[in-house]
Amino acid sequence: MAIRLRPDINTKFHIDMNWWEKNHKDIRIYMRNALCGECRKDFADADLTEAVDWVDEETAEVAQVDPLWHSIRTCCSLKPGYITPDTPIIDAIFMTFLANGNKPLSIVELHAKLDKRPPETILRMLTGGTVYLGLRPAPTE
Ligand SMILES: [Zn+2]
Repeated sequence: MAIRLRPDINTKFHIDMNWWEKNHKDIRIYMRNALCGECRKDFADADLTEAVDWVDEETAEVAQVDPLWHSIRTCCSLKPGYITPDTPIIDAIFMTFLANGNKPLSIVELHAKLDKRPPETILRMLTGGTVYLGLRPAPTE
């Protein structure tokens, strides 16, 4: 697993879960912000932490996923207003990866989805030295 040294707009990014662990940050706090109103209520009543089964549509593999993430994928991210024009670009990118199960996307692809900033600007934000929300280049196969 090698990471390309100089990322460009075609480099695929993802949420690097190791970054969250290494920095002792709790991604669930940030996931909560992506919940819709109803799910927010559900998770406020009970701190649901037990993993639920997620069946990958392409591979039919069953994975255990965080119930928060599961709700975002099956409910909140499908509702209008999940990402709005007012959503800050970094949050919007993070939420895009939450919605797609952290499937790596290039800056060009993110730009096409979000239509917020020029790809070069997004690239500069993600590679400027500070890692935001664990958004880092994905390892290449
Ligand atoms: Zn929801």
